[in-house]
Amino acid sequence: MKYVSGIFPALMILMTLSAHADGFDENFQDKTLRLDYSFSGDNREQHIYLDEMEVSDGWYGRRVNLDSLLLQGNGQITITDTLDQKVLYRYSFSTLFQEWQSTEEATKVQKSFENVFLVPLPKDPVNVTITLTDTHNQVKSILTHRVDPSDILIRPIGSSDSRLWKYLVKNGDSREKIDVTFVAEGYQMSEMDVFERDCREAIDAIVSHEPFKSLKERFNFVAVMSPSIESGVSIPHKGIWKATALSSNYDTFYSERYLTTLHLKRLHDVLAGVPYEHIVILANTDNYGGGGIYNSYLMSAAHNEKTRPVVVHEFGHSFAGLADEYYYDDQYETMYPADTEPWEPNLTTLVDFDKKWKDMLPRKTKIPTVPSGKNLYTEIGVYEGGGYQSKGVYRPVQECRMKINEAPVFCPVCERAIRRIINYYTSEK
Ligand SMILES: [Zn+2]
Repeated sequence: MKYVSGIFPALMILMTLSAHADGFDENFQDKTLRLDYSFSGDNREQHIYLDEMEVSDGWYGRRVNLDSLLLQGNGQITITDTLDQKVLYRYSFSTLFQEWQSTEEATKVQKSFENVFLVPLPKDPVNVTITLTDTHNQVKSILTHRVDPSDILIRPIGSSDSRLWKYLVKNGDSREKIDVTFVAEGYQMSEMDVFERDCREAIDAIVSHEPFKSLKERFNFVAVMSPSIESGVSIPHKGIWKATALSSNYDTFYSERYLTTLHLKRLHDVLAGVPYEHIVILANTDNYGGGGIYNSYLMSAAHNEKTRPVVVHEFGHSFAGLADEYYYDDQYETMYPADTEPWEPNLTTLVDFDKKWKDMLPRKTKIPTVPSGKNLYTEIGVYEGGGYQSKGVYRPVQECRMKINEAPVFCPVCERAIRRIINYYTSEK
């Protein structure tokens, strides 16, 4: 009996693993198809154009829940079988382009933005559909195109891998884990020991927050030593421009602390051939700032006293699709119209509050909830103000990591949302 009981669980594990792989292996190869698009328009129009397609070895995204979405995002990719239109893979995202559309500049000029998405390479021809939605969660533009995996013009990239990268934390095979990959921005080759220290500091900041703390074995962390010609990053409002690996800069959309790169093709060129799924760009500067875009990347200054909370806050955006719980007047036009429930799990307009944290509300909670000034991070309610608007948008707690840098934790609603997305990436339905 001892033998049997010893062997049986091992067999069970094997059976689970092979069942796990089948859904993926039926339709996809262990390769990554990179789809480059141009999104263009202004405050009223959106256009989507296919730019280029590339292929690289290995697929490091999710291998479970392939045909379902946990969060809607501001845009979606859907891969369907060309014969029976069955959905094979779905993915959601947000873009800087759509954020830009609500700036004043977008009322004056049409612009084009690079966007890059990774999907598993299909075994047979498929249709790929990209949709972009507006602030009312309505589809504003759509592009469907066919992808034949035997197309000779899909460019192979990343296979002759001479670039410098390494695992900083490896908890298991990249196929089973969530791969979070750090990219160096504004570090010269001689500064890569500093970059590695900065990565370890950022990892420590993330995994010291729940629920990452208790689920940290679901993640791998990788560092890509992408060298820059100059040290530091561009800060236009100080007149500083630097030649860096990703051509990032502060002052995105003329907001001083908003640090991003619009050069997504270059970013993904740097990453080609490396196990990556979620991207963290660390900038070699002490100037305060950062940015995070859902399922695109997060970027943060590495040497500011607020670096740790900023990295974790932006990871809340880029990894978990959390919204900003803070508000002020008024960089954006209305991001969250009163007649539309936001898709982000930590804000509500009360249009469809049942789908949010209503089940976590203590009985007899008043809506809107009057801030008590006590239990700032844990007392769940429906507090008015959030998503850049002081009126009409409600957040779950008085203070949260998604609201202020001083908050030591994610609020219980954000924590649950992150836990759900980790399970979505790593567990069967
Ligand atoms: Zn929160």
